[in-house]
Amino acid sequence: MFDIKKCDICPNECGVDRRKTAGKCSAYDKPVVAGYSLHFFEEPCVSGTNGSGTVFFSGCAMRCVYCQNASVSRPFNEILNGNGQKELLSESSAYASPDGVPLSASYTRIPDGRAAFSKKLKGSEISPAELADIFKKLEDAGAHNINLVSPSHFAPFIISAIKKYRPKIPVIYNTHGYEKRDTITRLNDFIDVYLTDLKYADFSARNMPSIRLKNTPDIPDERDFSSRKTLLNNNGNPPRCENKTDFSAAKELSNCPNYTEYALPAIAEMIRGKGKPVIENGLIKSGVIIRHLVIPSYLGNSIRVLETIAENFKDDALISIMSQYTPLGELRLDEKINRPLKPLEYKIILKKALELGIGDAYVQELGSCGKEFIPEFIRNYSG
Ligand code: SF4
Repeated sequence: MFDIKKCDICPNECGVDRRKTAGKCSAYDKPVVAGYSLHFFEEPCVSGTNGSGTVFFSGCAMRCVYCQNASVSRPFNEILNGNGQKELLSESSAYASPDGVPLSASYTRIPDGRAAFSKKLKGSEISPAELADIFKKLEDAGAHNINLVSPSHFAPFIISAIKKYRPKIPVIYNTHGYEKRDTITRLNDFIDVYLTDLKYADFSARNMPSIRLKNTPDIPDERDFSSRKTLLNNNGNPPRCENKTDFSAAKELSNCPNYTEYALPAIAEMIRGKGKPVIENGLIKSGVIIRHLVIPSYLGNSIRVLETIAENFKDDALISIMSQYTPLGELRLDEKINRPLKPLEYKIILKKALELGIGDAYVQELGSCGKEFIPEFIRNYSG
């Protein structure tokens, strides 16, 4: 059982009583939904032809500086405008202007004149029963699946909603990957597909062979690193890294220095719970998709992520290597990442994926960068 009176749902383990206050995710004891719609720009096995029935939750346990949805993932007092400045958006003005949520006009707004607006987040607080009603609406609209985006901090309420109405279509848990293994274990009976990021691979420096980018003088790696940890263990335990601070991409970019330490066991548990991907008529029915967004200047991190995937997960999950990185908001403060990905950077990462045996992966056209972040996914990259 989850205990929201001393919340420890995610690795932040805030210990707050969410009936009275919010933790780092800015969420209280009701789901906050920014919008829901049929969504056509996920991987083809998710979007299909009818679209994915996507529910966008507000709030987040992470603080990625490149977040594309910061206007709904951050609380009011942390929202940045296009100049990297905090919006002077009071809670009262947000109550009065819910349409400030910068999602596509096709998104259906919550509430339909009945739910309350959130105290800290753009979006509307709804009950598990109302969330179950949204599942039904999306199902009736022809969605191939129910796609729960940024669901982690609402896990217990999502379980309650699914207990009230179990969709006949697959339920997808679309997460940043910063999850506790126990939380995934509790979700396994209710979730059909995990669509998870693996954003970072920050490891201890012991027993690691040298990995250096060659012939790429115009592309700075974030740092020199001479070794990487061997993840595979021989006793059947999930992979785990012991020293979480030798590399700091997760801390620099998401303020989550222990991201890798939690994400790897969580993904191992997702795979244990769901098994190998099952695809029928081109649509995923169960299993795990691991996504990695390549970030400009942080190619060393991406290579470590790919090696981690190759060593641990590639035979049991679908892999998606994404180029849709778009400089937004507070990125203006950091020159290293205040630009789109260079074609050469993406090419290096895709070449590395092939070398590691990850040839059967979803990849994106580089032109998918942009505020609309409308990616084209193409299966089977071959050079
Ligand atoms: S779900 Fe929210 S309140 Fe709970 S531990 Fe995570 S960040 Fe803290």
